[in-house]
Amino acid sequence: MSGLDVRGLTVAFDGFTAVDGVDLRVDSGDLRFLIGPNGAGKTTLVDAVTGLVRGRGSVRFGGTELLGRSVHRIARSGIGRTFQTATVFEELTVLQNLDIAAGAGRGAWTMLRRRRGVPGSVARALETIGLSDAADTPAGTLAHGQKQWLEIGMLLVQDVRLLLLDEPVAGMSHEERQATGELLRGISRERTVVVIEHDMDFMRSFARSVTVLHAGRVLSEGTVAEVQADPRVQEVYLGGAPAGAAADAAVQEV
Ligand code: ADP
Ligand code: MG
Repeated sequence: MSGLDVRGLTVAFDGFTAVDGVDLRVDSGDLRFLIGPNGAGKTTLVDAVTGLVRGRGSVRFGGTELLGRSVHRIARSGIGRTFQTATVFEELTVLQNLDIAAGAGRGAWTMLRRRRGVPGSVARALETIGLSDAADTPAGTLAHGQKQWLEIGMLLVQDVRLLLLDEPVAGMSHEERQATGELLRGISRERTVVVIEHDMDFMRSFARSVTVLHAGRVLSEGTVAEVQADPRVQEVYLGGAPAGAAADAAVQEV
């Protein structure tokens, strides 16, 4: 059982409850979209699952309790995430970035020196993320979309079983979004994928299931069609005062 099972997750900052008793079950092989207005608690939920903030309740992955574990132990349990801003090593090439991600246990010198061969896991990841031709390109010169793909590749070479992606297609062109959607579809066949997203078109095209967060709570859950037909979701997006252009776009389309 390698699904994610969140029960009664609560995260408070100085008395402000950002995540308020969230229950969330994501089965292996799902491609779950986590949506909701700005400030709904989406990023905080992922922060709690990955150990960056302290939460109460229970977060299990593959049956193992994660709450209370260190960030590093959680990462070693097969859980990886991306952030809203890419965190690749800009000076290093695509290949070197993947190599470092793959190289836990190898010395820095071994990882950084020019290699003759590319390890199988790295070659496969390069192919999956569509960057084989850019292997020797410095990551800093990649297009925005390619950087996000490289980050996803860095999770793949670590053989992460659960990927938590925070707004991976923000700032991408339509073509890059489509390519990212196809990439996530492929990845989710073997792994559990949770995508935080604002873009409703992207969600409609690629989500297998959707959870809507609002004010730290689960407002609605189901298929894209079920969630869109839910009057509570329409109320939050139409009746409230969502902050930011992305949320405004969501209003027009929900
Ligand atoms: P989302 O990702 O859904 O836009 P966040 O999880 O980033 O929302 O934030 C949820 C709420 O928690 C917001 O009101 C935000 O201001 C608050 N928050 C997030 N992180 C912190 C923090 N470190 N300290 C205090 N408040 C925070
Ligand atoms: Mg966020």
